[in-house]
Amino acid sequence: MKKEQTDFLVIGSGLAGLAFALEASKHGKVVVLTKAGVQDSNTSWAQGGIAAAVGESDDWRLHEEDTLIAGAGLCDPDAVRMLVQNAPQAIEWLAKLGARFDLGASNELDLGREGGHSRNRIVHHADKTGWEVERAVSAAVRANPNIVVYQFCFVTDLLMSGGRCVGATGTIPDVGQVMFTARATMVATGGVGKVYDSTTNPRVATGDGVALAQKVGANIANMEFQQFHPTTLHHPQLSGFLITEAMRGAGATLRNHNGRRFMFDYDSRLELAPRDVVARSIAREMQKLETWCVYLDPTHLPSELLQEEFPTIWKRLSEIGLLIDRDWIPVVPAQHYSCGGVVTDLNGRTNVPGLYASGEVSCTGVHGANRLASNSLLEAIVFSFKAAEVVQAEPTEVPEVQEPKSPTCLPENEAILLRHALQKLMSAQAGIFRTTAGLQEASDKIASALTQYDTQATAGFSAYSAETRNLLINAQLIVNGALARTENVGLHYNADLDK
Ligand SMILES: Cc1cc2nc3c(=O)[nH]c(=O)nc-3n(C[C@H](O)[C@H](O)[C@H](O)COP(=O)(O)OP(=O)(O)OC[C@H]3O[C@@H](n4cnc5c(N)ncnc54)[C@H](O)[C@@H]3O)c2cc1C
Repeated sequence: MKKEQTDFLVIGSGLAGLAFALEASKHGKVVVLTKAGVQDSNTSWAQGGIAAAVGESDDWRLHEEDTLIAGAGLCDPDAVRMLVQNAPQAIEWLAKLGARFDLGASNELDLGREGGHSRNRIVHHADKTGWEVERAVSAAVRANPNIVVYQFCFVTDLLMSGGRCVGATGTIPDVGQVMFTARATMVATGGVGKVYDSTTNPRVATGDGVALAQKVGANIANMEFQQFHPTTLHHPQLSGFLITEAMRGAGATLRNHNGRRFMFDYDSRLELAPRDVVARSIAREMQKLETWCVYLDPTHLPSELLQEEFPTIWKRLSEIGLLIDRDWIPVVPAQHYSCGGVVTDLNGRTNVPGLYASGEVSCTGVHGANRLASNSLLEAIVFSFKAAEVVQAEPTEVPEVQEPKSPTCLPENEAILLRHALQKLMSAQAGIFRTTAGLQEASDKIASALTQYDTQATAGFSAYSAETRNLLINAQLIVNGALARTENVGLHYNADLDK
């Protein structure tokens, strides 16, 4: 088996992974492993922007308060304070790397508004902020001689020696398995959206990092808090396409199929109530009226504003025949963000020595039971920076490690069936509305699917199959977390607890 040694190993090339790589490269050699192309990530798909209290009437204390309210009492106040206090520097860092953000008339940052924020504080690049951020950080990584990136390298295992994480094994097409040893390993593998049959996440979001970390004994928490974005397109050609909250921030309203603005029936904050409230209200309205979707109505907004502020949405929707200055947009909620994950301290350290986590894969305490919109790109930068500061203290000697066994996988045709059944099951039983019986049924079915996978797996590697097993592990954590919650809080809602 090929072997390579580095100082710091990063798994994932989204914002969390690349921000860590850039900062850690000041202290040693960095290798980044990523299972698809560099820019294939949730980060590239982020639309709305990054929250930071940089406006004249704003203050980090207000950002802190909004974050704590959204988190429904389950945030770690220290983590939240660190996040919001470091937000302006995070924006400055991105701007210095060359990320372009929209400016107002007198060249100050043009700040958008999203649900749950008491001030305009969303720094953005039209409706494709993530694309712009990923462009800037990946260009900086390419120009950095201390960072090497291996694309299409699927990480299958973390390497352990004497209770320490000392690297990872990756599989590269036409090369095979490669062992990467390192002083410290950063898991930055993003979200778990593909656990559900409807998600805004790209295909790489299969919860690999949570499964990898759990296997070596890392603590995992809060997986039951899965955020559903209220407004994703309901259309056969572009299912799951996100219609950013910023459109509601700009004044678009939600209507049922009778044209009634139904949010008046659910919450006084109307369309700008926190995401879980809006998503649940939409789901209830759809149930009540037995409809497939509700509608987002931006038609009263000026056509020029819609084209200027939402160019991606304007273009993609017009390609399927929807003109957003004239047509209501059919929308449904879809899984969007995982608030739980690998538990870390304020420096991104997990309970496994040598193992760090950052970004959506992590559970830093910032989001509690619900994430405030546009806090996740920010979290990825702030916690990766802290981790890059402390990794210098990791031992410089990397011990010898045994070669891991070759992975075994379920044949792909069977994995396809297993994955689809899992996604349907999770959407039905562990989505926005849950019941104890439904969760129990899901738990039993997932346990037997895992047994089926492991007993039928054969020699030979398939990334799709390996991801499917990781999805099963994530599903199990979500369902078991939901069963263990004895009260409805934030994103977790079990109808039986309401009785
Ligand atoms: C449509 C959409 C809109 C969003 N809008 C916003 C927004 O406006 N503001 C905001 O703050 N957040 C937003 N988010 C959330 C935000 O984009 C993500 O939480 C954030 O980008 C996560 O960054 P990350 O670096 O942790 O993970 P990602 O950007 O997802 O990167 C994960 C990386 O890990 C790699 N990887 C995964 N598994 C493996 C493996 N086994 N081996 C090797 N590599 C692996 C992936 O290929 C990828 O490169 C949005 C998300 C979506 C999907």
